[in-house]
Amino acid sequence: MIDLRSDTVTRPNDAMRKAMAEAEVGDDVYGEDPTVNRLESLASEMMGTESAIFVSSGTQSNLLALMSHCRRGDEYIVGQDAHTYKYEGGGAAVLGSIQPQPLDVEGDGTIDLKKAEEVIKPDDYHFAQTKLFCLENTKSGRVLPMNYLFAAKEFADRANLGFHLDGARIFNAAVKLGIDVKEISSLFDSVSVCLSKGLGAPVGSVLCGSKDLIGQARRWRKVLGGGMRQAGILAAGAIYALQNNVERLSDDHYHAARLREALLDIDEIKVEPGSADTNMVFISLPAHSPQELAKFLQQKGILIYPGKSMRLVTHLDISGSDITDFVEALKSFFPVG
Ligand SMILES: *Cc1c(COP(=O)(O)O)cnc(C)c1O
Repeated sequence: MIDLRSDTVTRPNDAMRKAMAEAEVGDDVYGEDPTVNRLESLASEMMGTESAIFVSSGTQSNLLALMSHCRRGDEYIVGQDAHTYKYEGGGAAVLGSIQPQPLDVEGDGTIDLKKAEEVIKPDDYHFAQTKLFCLENTKSGRVLPMNYLFAAKEFADRANLGFHLDGARIFNAAVKLGIDVKEISSLFDSVSVCLSKGLGAPVGSVLCGSKDLIGQARRWRKVLGGGMRQAGILAAGAIYALQNNVERLSDDHYHAARLREALLDIDEIKVEPGSADTNMVFISLPAHSPQELAKFLQQKGILIYPGKSMRLVTHLDISGSDITDFVEALKSFFPVG
């Protein structure tokens, strides 16, 4: 199968599975799982933070961050289509009693800082208290410009807001810019990183931040039922991912760029702007049915999500020849002439 639906579909290879099978474990709720402890140290070292916590998913990681920055009745500023607002089941409101203040996201994935400043509530009990500013990097496969991040940090500091990054794909951003990931992570008070996407671990995310903040997150993780016991088996896969699968993200970016180039040559396909900045290409089909295309491709062993705008994602389990095969299959869908 050539699965272009998401980078979450990556599967552990033999070496990762071996590391998982051989992991030393203990009860992590007691802080006694040596492999989880090793992962948390490695993650905080890589991110340049005091502390880190291994959690079940990116959704849980973001929720823990929101609940650690904000109390009941507080508010966070977030992108209208940000994962932490739109794609997490309303968890901040449901479980944290935290009110979102969503704002439109600009074409380049940023949130206009002037607009953000305008929605900060005055200190008056008619209003929720604005406590946190959240960004996402990469956003829909786009790397946020470093200059923007510097300005956003300055804004958050000046406005006395906490500053959280949903860095599910922060390593894609760092690899694309050719910088140490710390240069991005150090600007934020907390950073959530997915290990189960392009990095290829089967399960888990890490939330990184100060000792204090991660201490709070550890308490909320237990409350949310996320205290895991011999989780070292999972952490071993995550350590393997951080040690072996970061630099190679550039292969995924290269494959996405090649894919974009090839698709630009197919008249029936519209390649959307912002494609292939990292590992995602967005296309639409002005005159054909996406559902028909998806069905046609599936018969050839290729998986895509049909839709008005279709996201094609390159990852660890997509090779150069998969890209070639996909483009050939795609061309054969359109009538000749
Ligand atoms: C995937 C993703 C998450 C959540 O991760 P899960 O592990 O699927 O819960 C959060 N933010 C962004 C930007 C993501 O792409």
